[in-house]
Parts: sequence; C-alpha cells; structure tokens
Amino acid sequence: MPLTDLMKPGPKSKNKLALHRGPERRRPTLRPLLAFGAHPDDIEFGCGGVVAQETQLGRKVHFAVCSRGEAGTHGTPKQRTAEAKKAAALLGATLEFIELDGDSHLEMRSAHAIKLAGIIRQLRPEVVLAPSPVENQHPDHSRLGKLVRDATRLARYGGLKELRRQPPHAIGRLFFYAVTPEAEPPDISPILINVSAPEIIAAWTAAMKAHASQTSARNYVELQLARARLAGMRAGTGHAIALFPNEPPVFDSLTATGRGAGRF
Ligand SMILES: [Zn+2]
Repeated sequence: MPLTDLMKPGPKSKNKLALHRGPERRRPTLRPLLAFGAHPDDIEFGCGGVVAQETQLGRKVHFAVCSRGEAGTHGTPKQRTAEAKKAAALLGATLEFIELDGDSHLEMRSAHAIKLAGIIRQLRPEVVLAPSPVENQHPDHSRLGKLVRDATRLARYGGLKELRRQPPHAIGRLFFYAVTPEAEPPDISPILINVSAPEIIAAWTAAMKAHASQTSARNYVELQLARARLAGMRAGTGHAIALFPNEPPVFDSLTATGRGAGRF
C-alpha cells in the first residue's frame, strides 16, 4: 500500500485509550514524526510514551517497521502484525511494514539506506526516531539505527538517481531510542522527555500490552515503566523517556534550554 493511502485518516478507534484526534485537530505547524523499528514492538517498548505525547499534541506520527518478527521465539508473523497494528492505533500512529532482509538477516547495504531515504522523502518528517546503533543488542536494532542515520543524510542529496522522483528533504532532528538498558549509547548524553501525564502513561502501557505474544513471555512493560520512572526521578518528574540525539541539539536561546536532570 502506498504511504499516501496509509496516511489517510482511518475509522476512529473504539478504544478509549486511543489518542488519535484526527487531522482536524492537528496543529498544521507540527510537521510529521517518522519512527523506524526493526521488529513489530521496538518503537512501542523503546519510546511509545513519546509517540503518545506527540500525537496528542497534534503531530502526525508514522511507523516504518522493517520485519514481522518472524525469527522470534514467541508469536507468529501474523500475530505480531496484528499486535503492531493495534499498538500503533492505540498511540494514534499510522503503520507500514518495509521489506528488507527479514528478521535477524538485516544487512548493511546502501540499497537499504536509499530505500529508507525514499520513505523519508515521501513523509517529509521534522523528527526521525530510530533504534540506537549500540552493538551489544539484537543485531537488527543496531544495523537499522545505522541505516536510518545514513538514510537521513541521503534523503537530502538531490543527485541520488534512485530517488529523483521525490524532492530532497532535510529532516530537523534524528534521535535514537534504546529498546533495553544495554542499548543506551554510553557516549551520547540523552535528552529526557517528560511523559508523566496519566493519559500518556495509560496509552503507552496499553500499546505495550497490545504485544501480548511478547509480554506474556517476559515482563517488558514493567521493565520500560521502571526505566521511565528512573529517568523521571533524575528529571524530578514522574516518568521520562531518554532519547539520544544524533547531533547536538540547537536552541534559540539559553532560556529555551529547559532544565537539567540532576536531582541526586
Ligand atoms: Zn527488536
């Protein structure tokens, strides 16, 4: 299905936790957010609270998931596809699956980076989220993080012949998310996003629980909420999610820099 079809507003979810407010409530000034995941649950576990918050603020969010989790121990590709669709709807995001090499077979190829750059040119996001490129985790996570980093660069190169049909696009910011504590890049200072609002935590929790084939095997929900609580304690708030900027964030003034996390 072409991305343009996927971006059309679908029927309203019956779930009360769904945050999708429809295009009429979107703020036209907020350009889209594009989140990449190697597996059907990575975005939700790694940064689902941030997504819930952005859609509630009126931003269009689109998930590009690069496998059906077919190499996993738990859940069939069909189950995991259905879980991903349900979770994305709960977060107010749209979803597409990208065919690359398949689960656990992802390779570093320029053709993949160019394909992902095409998705970036089509959606034209302001913000891109990708799994961290830290090595000691599922190899598809780190490889996809590197491929997305390359793709954000290639998306702005006007002479790339494979992408000539779409005008170049320079994204505003690329952030990496960490699916597990081990995936947090030790050499990048994170920014902490405050996701403490009860409706955000509720939507995030529901989206994680939608991946029942995974949460029935291990308590991923408690792991992510505990990580967010720890980051929230550092930040002096309820819950926070760490994102790792690929380049130094730029602020228009010192006053606009917010506050630092140094409560202990
Ligand atoms: Zn994964």
